[in-house]
Amino acid sequence: MEKTLFDLSGLRALITGSSQGIGYALARGLAEAGAEIILNGRNAEKLSIAAQKLSAEGHTVHQSSFDVTDHASVKQHIDQIEETIGAIDILISNAGIQKRSPLEDFSASDWTELMKTNLDGVFNTGQAVANHMIKRKRGKIINICSVQSSLARPTIAPYTASKGAVAMLTKGMCTDWAKYNIQINGIAPGYFETELNQALVDDEAFTAWLENRTPAKRWGKVEELIGSAIFLSSEASSFINGHILYVDGGITSSL
Ligand code: NAP
Repeated sequence: MEKTLFDLSGLRALITGSSQGIGYALARGLAEAGAEIILNGRNAEKLSIAAQKLSAEGHTVHQSSFDVTDHASVKQHIDQIEETIGAIDILISNAGIQKRSPLEDFSASDWTELMKTNLDGVFNTGQAVANHMIKRKRGKIINICSVQSSLARPTIAPYTASKGAVAMLTKGMCTDWAKYNIQINGIAPGYFETELNQALVDDEAFTAWLENRTPAKRWGKVEELIGSAIFLSSEASSFINGHILYVDGGITSSL
């Protein structure tokens, strides 16, 4: 049967940081669109529970536990996936952390950990996977950015710097790798209810501010990110490259 524009059957996707939250929702969404899935995270036990849930739904799921901050380990795990499981057709670089503090008090160790996870992690994983995609002259890379790729908020200046850099790294990857028929794009979520954001979800004043500030007047649901991920993983986006797709209820369009 001929594949439709958004069909992912026969493709294999690695999603970093997919034991919970946005990564898990995207893994599940891509699986429902037909892709075979490789889950990742540091905590192997959490990863197994997530994998069991997806397998129970009938999806083909593998696990590869590694820390995206470790360049050598990332390369070793990606090479191992390619050798033992098969080609990675789609990479979603999603693993990320948040640390909040007024900038004047922000510790150097928190800065380093945040940058190593949010920015170095995208470089480490993207480079290791792209080296296989370049040989095949085919592939899709999606980097998870944020509304903080273009707008700052109090107490999260380092996160803002990291996500601004991920958006620019996405354009840099496109500039170097689009000629190999690899499409590299970003998805920039607005505010979604996940564990990373639990402190904000529990904060009534923040929720009131957010609902007022967002044209759509609400938090996003993680399932609402799936459509953009399928689009940027599929044939439908074959000439879209270096684009940052904001999925934010209009927050970055409005003052
Ligand atoms: P989350 O619920 O905290 O999940 C983060 C995931 O990343 C977990 O599976 C975690 O598993 C994994 N992870 C963390 N550090 C890792 C590392 N060094 N190596 C490998 N895996 C690692 O976060 P989320 O809210 O789903 O956010 C996912 C991404 O979306 C992040 O990049 C975040 O910045 C971005 N984002 C989120 C929102 C939002 O509203 N939630 C908005 C904009 C952007 P382990 O702890 O087991 O490693």
